[in-house]
Amino acid sequence: MTGFVEKWDELIDWKKRSASEGRFFIDQLKARGVRKVLDVATGTGFHSVRLLEEGFETVSADGSAEMLAKAFSNGQTYGGHILRIVQADWRFLNRDVHGTYDAIICLGNSFTHLFSERDRRKALAEFYAMLKHDGVLILDQRNYDALLDGKYGNKHTYYYCGEEVSAEPEHVDEGLARFVYRFPDESEYHLNMFPLRKNYVRRLMREVGFQRVDTYGDFQETYQADEPDFFIHIAEKE
Ligand code: SAM
Repeated sequence: MTGFVEKWDELIDWKKRSASEGRFFIDQLKARGVRKVLDVATGTGFHSVRLLEEGFETVSADGSAEMLAKAFSNGQTYGGHILRIVQADWRFLNRDVHGTYDAIICLGNSFTHLFSERDRRKALAEFYAMLKHDGVLILDQRNYDALLDGKYGNKHTYYYCGEEVSAEPEHVDEGLARFVYRFPDESEYHLNMFPLRKNYVRRLMREVGFQRVDTYGDFQETYQADEPDFFIHIAEKE
């Protein structure tokens, strides 16, 4: 994972990625009067920096110290931001992160990295507990329904990664989605993900207590097709 992320980060043009993702989640946060945000999947910092640029008070958490170090240096490189970083596993978030937040974001198809239902429930319950009474969770995921139901094109290309990076499913069943990522220098990385079905995630969100879950299609991040590539869930606490 680390080698893959470094490679991705080396190639990525953050401006192009911003253009590709658009303002959707920023606009959702602003429309709700959100000020204080916890980015629970900071990774190399793309979304945290985006939040800081837009003036949100942001805390950047991740389970990986290496990622946080990279995010911190990216913050300085892209706009001279000083990230407030905290190392924390989602399953024990309340132990390691203090305070409550107007919003939590978990973006970049990060939730797919949990492989047991118990962990998914625990993580969502921890997110719920860290939100203020009227807080909101924004979590995105790849459209695995299309993949599982055979409605997904074979090769997706990410043009915002310099030349181009492609992602192709190698193995897919209800318990595992394995992708191969190919980079312009011909290196390859294989990543295992849990294929989250859209309605399953919505159900889990409601079961941990979120009163309302709205799901939107796409940050339109790769190619155009009938099926959205990504879903974005917006879960409200009240
Ligand atoms: N949002 C960023 C983006 O889109 O560029 C980063 C997304 S990256 C795909 C996913 C991040 O989630 C990784 O940095 C990984 O360390 C983190 N992560 C995965 N499982 C985690 C867990 N259980 N607790 C905390 N962080 C976790």
